[in-house]
Amino acid sequence: MDSQHHTNWESIEQIAGAVRSCTRCVLAETRTNAVPGDGSPTAAVMFIGEGPGQNEDEQGLPFVGRAGKLLDSLLEQVPLQRSDVFITNVVKCRPPGNRDPEPGEVAACMPYLEAQIDLINPRVIVTLGRHSMLRFYPQGKISNDHGRIISLGSRILLPIYHPAAALRNPRLNETMVRDIKRIPEAVREGLMLQSSSREGTSQAPNEAQDQAPASQDAPSTDAAPASEHQDDSDDRDQMSLF
Ligand code: SF4
Repeated sequence: MDSQHHTNWESIEQIAGAVRSCTRCVLAETRTNAVPGDGSPTAAVMFIGEGPGQNEDEQGLPFVGRAGKLLDSLLEQVPLQRSDVFITNVVKCRPPGNRDPEPGEVAACMPYLEAQIDLINPRVIVTLGRHSMLRFYPQGKISNDHGRIISLGSRILLPIYHPAAALRNPRLNETMVRDIKRIPEAVREGLMLQSSSREGTSQAPNEAQDQAPASQDAPSTDAAPASEHQDDSDDRDQMSLF
């Protein structure tokens, strides 16, 4: 599957269908259900974890089980509901024993994530946990960069800890609430970034960064290329969330 191929998908449902019948990597052999993702196909905010766990594999849905319940309660703090956002993972099938996905598996699955980002065109990508953050921001460090608003091409990246980390270490709960409450601000930054690029006054890649240590560079590439197909009315819809 090349990038040529994935542009043929015209809807989130089409991508989901392709994911459910996918045999592009060995994870197809051990999955119960593939987990394409779930939520609004026009979401301003997209959450991306690393891969499905056991509950997700059994149900074919992302972030169910205890970590999913915690994510739901965090969303309520914004306030947002699952139906307002889109939630997916870097790899769509569960790695056995919850091991990290292999680089080849990530590469095989990446066209699905890229196509989802292209079609949904979120203003903000919230990565859940270290591994997912590193896919978009390889120089990042989750202990420093969680809760930071980082420009990523024409979008905003907001890395937060994985909910499973807060289940293991309840002291992270407060941090996660603080970080996720930055979503409205991140959406506003994302909309400004998009409108300034439409007006031809696009910001330098790191201009929207905050609390950035001087030694850290902004992402040099847009890991999630935008298809700039949304107009001002979409902007208003996305702002009306908050
Ligand atoms: S992980 Fe991705 S590439 Fe591998 S079988 Fe599942 S959907 Fe296909």
